[in-house]
Amino acid sequence: MQFNRKYKSKNFRPRADEEVQFLVLHYTALPLGTTLGIFTNNYDLCKQDIELGYYANGGFNAEEACKGEVSAHYVNSEQGEIFQLVDEEFASYHAGASYWNGVKNINNHSIGIEHENIGFDWLSKFPNDRALQVFGSPNKWCKFTEIQIEQTIRLCREIIASHGIKPFNIVGHSDIACGRKSDPGAAFPWRQLAAAGIGMWYDLKESTLNDETKPVDPVLWVQRRLAEYGYDCPITGVADDKFTNTLQAFQMHFRPTKIDGQVDLESLQILDSLCQRKARYEEQASMNAELAAQAALYDAVVDEDDTEENANSGSKLSFRC
Ligand SMILES: [Zn+2]
Repeated sequence: MQFNRKYKSKNFRPRADEEVQFLVLHYTALPLGTTLGIFTNNYDLCKQDIELGYYANGGFNAEEACKGEVSAHYVNSEQGEIFQLVDEEFASYHAGASYWNGVKNINNHSIGIEHENIGFDWLSKFPNDRALQVFGSPNKWCKFTEIQIEQTIRLCREIIASHGIKPFNIVGHSDIACGRKSDPGAAFPWRQLAAAGIGMWYDLKESTLNDETKPVDPVLWVQRRLAEYGYDCPITGVADDKFTNTLQAFQMHFRPTKIDGQVDLESLQILDSLCQRKARYEEQASMNAELAAQAALYDAVVDEDDTEENANSGSKLSFRC
């Protein structure tokens, strides 16, 4: 793939021996120039957006933001131009306090891709022709552009192949920092990505849960399944704010038409299917590892038979014949 490498971030660190296990997708909530300015600590790159009046309402100080230590490996613009700001061998600073599948501090173990997208209408510069209304959300969300998503699919495929990232470890920022982050938001086309082989999806037919068979304590059941799938979800049986935020993040990823954070039958069925698929994937992976180990053992035995001594004795034998 072709990248624009004109802008480089200095906000990164060596990964040590930590391998890349996760791919995290974001939206910037800011226009492209300001995003690049913040990630490269270059205030000049924000000036055009300031002149366009993006921050006229106050509440956002681009100059201060450019003094921070944030970055991402890639920024994908609305035109589908991909900027590489940090090399993949280094950890960039895109996730902050985070958790997924037993791992804290996801920066050390991940690649981060940002998408130029305003999120919801906090800058009063919302493109109304791309507004998406979602049940359970007070905001309209901004749809991503087609070329942008096509480019993301290409980029994700390359990253997944080069690091061997598992489908359930392809997540949104909101999945790994529930309640604190809402990107890439309800307009992000996770289903389209899954159809292109990126990340997980579900099939409601795989779940046997219905109104009669649903669990007696649905909150406890959902907490167990959210934790099993990867979320930071304490198993308390109580539908507190932490639980509602986590369920909402899950819904935003897998059922973005209704993200009210309430337990309902469809959420149970989706979770049921996803957890079954994750378990099957892991079972298959461990079978494959076992087969690979057996094959390696077989190769080692064959190699031993091919030692020079054995090879010479073999030739003597053939001479005699
Ligand atoms: Zn983010």
